[in-house]
Amino acid sequence: MLKDPVVQELITDITKEEEDGISIVECLINGKITDEEIAEETELRLNIVRRVLYKLYDAGIASYKRSKDPETQWYTYSWKFEENKIFEMLKRRNEEFSMELKECLEYEENNIFFECKNNGCRCSFEEASENSFICPVCGSELEFQDNSTIIENLKEEIQLLKNNGHDFNFENASKIDS
Ligand SMILES: [Zn+2]
Repeated sequence: MLKDPVVQELITDITKEEEDGISIVECLINGKITDEEIAEETELRLNIVRRVLYKLYDAGIASYKRSKDPETQWYTYSWKFEENKIFEMLKRRNEEFSMELKECLEYEENNIFFECKNNGCRCSFEEASENSFICPVCGSELEFQDNSTIIENLKEEIQLLKNNGHDFNFENASKIDS
């Protein structure tokens, strides 16, 4: 799943300044569970590894268990990557974006638009008639704008999101990964 550019983007988003978010997540997935193990594997400084781990934790996509070594009395943190949370986040993002697109589509379908050929200023019928079909910016005449291409593009985008959405079915995805 780390090969998925959408997943990579999400992890990069979360770990931001640190460029090593993905390699650290990869370590977690491959069973390196302590910060020392990860630092050794990635050859990153321990404080960078820890900072990234806490960022992942803060975003809810990593968790840890703390245990005390009975001899040294030192605490060890065993980290775990919460793969399902990634899919939940992506699914939620996808749904939000899809809702926005649907609202845009509805607005485009329920309105008639006019535009100024000079500067591309776009008005709904109401706005245009309030301005007596004169461009509020440059004073040229507003002309009817065919928005069927915009509508088609929106519909395609919505369909595309719907198709991609199936990838975010994390039960299936986990099965493929394991
Ligand atoms: Zn104009």
